[in-house]
Amino acid sequence: MFPTVNPTSGIFQPARHCWSPNRDARPLHTSTELIVVHGISLPPGVFGTEWVEALFMNRIPNDHPDPLLRSVSSLRVSAHLYIARDGRTIQFVPFLERAWHAGASHWRGREHCNDFSVGIELEGTDEQAYEPVQYQNLAAAIRALWDAYPSLAAGAIVGHSEIAPGRKTDPGPAFDWARLRQILAAGTGPGGAAVSSP
Ligand SMILES: [Zn+2]
Repeated sequence: MFPTVNPTSGIFQPARHCWSPNRDARPLHTSTELIVVHGISLPPGVFGTEWVEALFMNRIPNDHPDPLLRSVSSLRVSAHLYIARDGRTIQFVPFLERAWHAGASHWRGREHCNDFSVGIELEGTDEQAYEPVQYQNLAAAIRALWDAYPSLAAGAIVGHSEIAPGRKTDPGPAFDWARLRQILAAGTGPGGAAVSSP
């Protein structure tokens, strides 16, 4: 299936849809202009776990034996999309709504980047190379977003570290911006940029 975003519903296909409670309405008359790329793994550096999804769904037990998981269990956060190491993509928040991914942040003199951005999390760490399929599926999602929302196409793509300097470092030096730009510039590339659905 060719990746698409329905501009009216804000829903991305193909993806698994798992609506996070950590979302609300964007402020009125706010156009969406920014795509924020993040990196996350839970526990950090451990891939293929259920814990990122559990974090965005407020399902990490607050008495979990792992102190790291316990420490994030009370956070109320989300992202619009999550792309796992194997390319599986989950949508947690429709793009028309505000996901809680950026925290205290600013971009070009504006604060509260959640208001006007789309947040996309890649499963990873700052130091470990992201997977080729993650770049392909990220690019496919960005292209679908650009098609659906011209204000995003006219905007920018940044890392979380760029809008929350000194506080956040993701997606880290491991994220290859040149590679993302190259895929976006090249169109769908050989075989098309399929986004896998679980
Ligand atoms: Zn982040």
